This record gives sequence, C-alpha cells and structure tokens, in this order.
Amino acid sequence: MTFSCKGICDALEIESVSTALRYESGHKRCTMCSVFVKTSKLGCPCCGARLRTKSRNKRSRKKNIP
Ligand SMILES: [Zn+2]
Ligand SMILES: [Zn+2]
Repeated sequence: MTFSCKGICDALEIESVSTALRYESGHKRCTMCSVFVKTSKLGCPCCGARLRTKSRNKRSRKKNIP
C-alpha cells in the first residue's frame, strides 16, 4: 500500500506543544507526513497512513564491545 501526503496535514499540524505532551494530549504522529495531528481516528486524515499513538521507549544500548 502506498500513502501519499495531500498537504492537508499542514493545516492539521499542532504547534506550541512539547513533544512529551503531544501523545498524552491525544495527538498522533504521522510518519508519512512527519507531523503531529489531533484526531480520534487511527489513520492520518491527510495520507491515510496509520498514526503512531505512543512514543517509543528509549532503549539504552549497552556497549559490550571489548
Ligand atoms: Zn500529509
Ligand atoms: Zn499523513
């Protein structure tokens, strides 16, 4: 499946919200458009790609290189 940005996200993008609070306040990340949008749907209203709702936990990489 191919998703294409239609440019709608430009108007949906949310500003003045810190990255940490974006997910908590219901904002979702579209990896295709690279924007945060606020919607109750699972898909991006712009391109239709599935939105990311939670931030990834940072995995601390242990360097085991001798
Ligand atoms: Zn878009
Ligand atoms: Zn999108």
